[in-house]
Amino acid sequence: MSTTVTTSTPPSAYPTLLSPIQAGPLTLRNRVMMGSMHTGFEERTRDLPKLAAYLARRAEGGAALLVTGGYAPNVEGWLLPGGSMMASKRMADNHRRVTDAVHSHGAHVVLQLLHSGRYGYHPFIRSAETTQSPITPFKARRMSGFDVERTIRAYVRSAKLAKRAGYDGIEIMGSEGYLLNQFLARATNRRTDEWGGSARRRMSLPIEIVRRIRAEVGDDFMLQYRISLQDLVADGQTWDETEELAGRLVDAGVDLLNTGIGWHEARVPTIVTSVPRAAFAELSGRLKAAVDVPVCASNRINDPGVAEDILASGQADMVSLARQMLADPDFVLKARDGRADEINTCIACNQACLDHTFANKKVSCLVNPVAGRELELTPRPAATPQRVAVIGAGVAGLAFAEAAAVRGHHVEVFEASDAIGGQFRLAAAIPGKEEYGQTLRYFSRRLEVLGVPVHLGRRATADQLYDASAATSPDRSSADGAIADRADDGVTDTGPRVGATAVDDVAEPFDHIVYSAGVVPRIPEIPGIDHDSVIPYDDLLSGRRTAGARVAVIGAGGIGVDVAEYLTREPNQSLAEWRKSWGVVDPADAPGGLGAPQDEKPLREVHLLQRKESSIGKGLGKTTGWVHRAELKKAGVHKYVGVSYDRIDDEGLHITVDGESKVIGVDNIIVCTGQESDRSALGAGIEDPRIHVIGGADVAAELDAKRAIRQAVELAAELSK
Ligand code: NAP
Ligand code: SF4
Repeated sequence: MSTTVTTSTPPSAYPTLLSPIQAGPLTLRNRVMMGSMHTGFEERTRDLPKLAAYLARRAEGGAALLVTGGYAPNVEGWLLPGGSMMASKRMADNHRRVTDAVHSHGAHVVLQLLHSGRYGYHPFIRSAETTQSPITPFKARRMSGFDVERTIRAYVRSAKLAKRAGYDGIEIMGSEGYLLNQFLARATNRRTDEWGGSARRRMSLPIEIVRRIRAEVGDDFMLQYRISLQDLVADGQTWDETEELAGRLVDAGVDLLNTGIGWHEARVPTIVTSVPRAAFAELSGRLKAAVDVPVCASNRINDPGVAEDILASGQADMVSLARQMLADPDFVLKARDGRADEINTCIACNQACLDHTFANKKVSCLVNPVAGRELELTPRPAATPQRVAVIGAGVAGLAFAEAAAVRGHHVEVFEASDAIGGQFRLAAAIPGKEEYGQTLRYFSRRLEVLGVPVHLGRRATADQLYDASAATSPDRSSADGAIADRADDGVTDTGPRVGATAVDDVAEPFDHIVYSAGVVPRIPEIPGIDHDSVIPYDDLLSGRRTAGARVAVIGAGGIGVDVAEYLTREPNQSLAEWRKSWGVVDPADAPGGLGAPQDEKPLREVHLLQRKESSIGKGLGKTTGWVHRAELKKAGVHKYVGVSYDRIDDEGLHITVDGESKVIGVDNIIVCTGQESDRSALGAGIEDPRIHVIGGADVAAELDAKRAIRQAVELAAELSK
């Protein structure tokens, strides 16, 4: 049982989340751990200032305990060639900058020790056996007994160096299928020596590492271990083994058990947006009941209410938030101050974090591009506050408005439709992407708090507002009059709005115009494209039109795949339905907690087509694409590549594929063939340096929310520096 430090109860909706807790030698100020997340700043000494700024910002935002990205104990444990490592006094001394920065904000920080085992991307990798993982191109060599001993000594050395660096402790990475997991599971350890064979002997390596580290570092250094609760691979650990391991780890000196779910090679998603929130908390509750150290729950916890429920119901003593801390470093402070509705929620898209890691790029966050770039993009007051009109309330316009208003600019947003969100609003309609709606909730609330008027149902053109910006000339009075005339006949205030500024404010001059009107769907030139059965994807996803029982989807990019899922699956899948559809079972019933998936009957018969010969879904995100491809398979979506579209008529869609003509008899044809920039309201002023075109209106070909939001926040940071 964990020991709660009794102090005054915080006056908050999240009393358990915000209450302190004792973990080994550390008194933690609340129950929020920032889980380990590799940023790409760990490898080189020159990047440590950025790492320090990034971590310090999370400490400033109230997290109690921060875990660094993974550091290998030796070269064999590298994730990549030249990967992050803690192996010398010089390295340790360089880290003082990081630990001091975190401590200056009252948080604690531990260094994660991660040995990749067979998951390393280099030729020196070693594991329990000579083996190759399905996700890496290199074969690992079997560790000899001598190699095992060398590895233990490397862990001990790294732990001592972490202490020298000023870390409050270490986290030993024992989950996600890395080296220690590879020794633990029968799937990857069939050795017959003292490090394999029975389950008990397979546990010897992590136990010995913990025991030897504890003996060297003393009791005033926190030792936490990340334990795999459910491997989600065939021949993974059983629940009995997990419980036995946990007990032995605690006996060997572990102060806190953090938890992990699923190996990286598992074919069950564990963190993408379609995984229900807190999907695995029940297991951490079971572990908590079995050990007498604090247990930390992880995976898809991005909301203080969800976190409070986990803690208050006894499913864990702490919660680990990793990507959520990228999305909003002030998660804890906002929860504490009754501002939970201002939390920028991690939508679990992976696009700027894990997909970057796998592309060997620096990590950031799609909804918060400041993450990882704190030294450049942290908002500072504008030198001279400007009046800025934003045309278009998609995520680019909203992100600019928020970031500019924070800097003290006066911003107003004009949106032609009756709601904010643009393409993001459509994305939130896709089953499994419901979280995307949280981003719009965030922006809506932030603009309200910042007093940014959002004029909905207002088709303002840049020409009108451009003239208004010209009104900053010395002869203000005549220019104001001209604008007032135009406002009368061109700009109408018909819709609801966020904020309270009067309609007439549009007649005020603007110093800058940010044009973020987004995109319109590209309609291909196919004979019969104006047939009644044809529906552009935005009409479908907005609910303006519905599709029949048999549907063809033209264009299999990100949106075509999303639309295929929209047409075949029910939204808002429950946890029980999700577990059934992916074959997630109780690890007490099957090793690794892996069962047989049970497919739901698809809502419609769907045909998904593209002209390219490459396989469908190839261009999707590295860490999410496979999930979408699996969903299409489960829904029985018929896929066609290398097609040409001949015509559309009452019979359906006529195509030629492999030199043969055929007709796909369908009720509807959904057009998902990309977008074109919507510059219809831009007017003639594009050359003016005070008109800034961003997002899809700037480049539709690479329409992508990550780029749009990043461009918006960078522009806001530049404006009147
Ligand atoms: P997209 O990825 O560019 O795909 C559009 C598809 O339509 C192309 O793959 C192209 O395939 C086809 N096409 C283009 N012009 C055509 C024409 N004239 N006639 C017939 N077919 C044509 O665009 P999107 O699907 O609209 O997605 C837009 C952006 O949103 C993407 O860049 C992506 O970043 C993002 N997004 C990503 C995801 C995700 O990762 N899960 C989901 C949604 C959106 P062929 O030429 O081979 O037919
Ligand atoms: Fe979350 Fe997406 Fe940001 Fe990653 S990029 S932290 S998944 S919102």
